[in-house]
Amino acid sequence: VLHNNVMDLKGNIRVFCRIRPPLDTEIGRICCSWNYHDEATVEIQSLEGQQATKQIFTFDQVFQPNCFQTDIFDMVSPLIQSALDGYNICIFAYGQTGSGKTFTMDGVADNVGVIPRTVDLLFDSINSYKNMGWEYEIRATFLEIYNEVLYDLLSNEAKDMEIRMAKNNKNDIYVSNITEECVMDPNHLRQLMATAKMNRATASTIGNERSSRSHAVTKLQLIGRHAARQEISIGSINLVDLAGSESPKTSIRMTETKNINRSLSELTNCILALLQKQDHVPYRNSKLTHLLMPALGGNSKTLMFINVSPFQDCYHESVKSLRFATSVN
Ligand code: ADP
Ligand code: MG
Repeated sequence: VLHNNVMDLKGNIRVFCRIRPPLDTEIGRICCSWNYHDEATVEIQSLEGQQATKQIFTFDQVFQPNCFQTDIFDMVSPLIQSALDGYNICIFAYGQTGSGKTFTMDGVADNVGVIPRTVDLLFDSINSYKNMGWEYEIRATFLEIYNEVLYDLLSNEAKDMEIRMAKNNKNDIYVSNITEECVMDPNHLRQLMATAKMNRATASTIGNERSSRSHAVTKLQLIGRHAARQEISIGSINLVDLAGSESPKTSIRMTETKNINRSLSELTNCILALLQKQDHVPYRNSKLTHLLMPALGGNSKTLMFINVSPFQDCYHESVKSLRFATSVN
């Protein structure tokens, strides 16, 4: 019932919470006490004396551990339609490492997440738009942002990539030297995604922990043309698996720590500024927000999934993540 309402909203930023279930391999770890008051409210209580107070958080919707990937995608699917209609869409997964961000975005083979479902729906919708005279072109790029440096996930070459202002529109940006693929069919897109994933994993083996410390940004630009009506529609879908939000271990160098934390806090700052309709949104303070500038402001719709772990030993990080929503709501 709520699903349609949520997507009808003209306010363009929605925050959802997803608490993941314990896995079979995690039996024996103790969970915090969780209570679900209604569809939008969650209560967390630490089992340790000092923090025994209950804390309550409200979201646009709370997804309990037993929810399905389809429940999550119900929130996303109306946005795919909007992107075809010319909106810029951003979907984020935020949370500590191990909280279920990648499960939410990519999913696992027999239980796929937002990104593979987006691919299927996108091509189905494009097919049905054909009957109405619309032809779409999809341009895909895959980026990783690590320590404030951009990496092209479709290329193994080291190259200098910069975020630049588009020549004819100062509210638009492009990334220099990035590999942009024109995608014709869903299998082609799936192949590109697999390549990007492999390159990210490879890079991560070399620079330890990199994949949990970096942001992965999948961008699909959708260019629709209606020949008879001489209309054009340009939208985009930006799918972002964010770096782990946990406080870094001390072994990580200080500059890196600062950069990693910076892009997450700058993202919060931008979203706050947008919600409060401030004149100045500090997009340029981090690579991530600068890159997403066209997709966060203006003609845009944003969904943020806050992923949290159920465990007592994750309590502090969970509360920190849950608070994120309080600051943006
Ligand atoms: P993150 O990307 O935030 O580090 P992952 O998505 O890799 O976390 O999740 C950690 C582990 O938990 C993975 O093995 C993943 O498959 C599993 N997992 C996460 N969320 C769920 C869920 N909702 N249901 C079942 N398994 C999950
Ligand atoms: Mg992950």
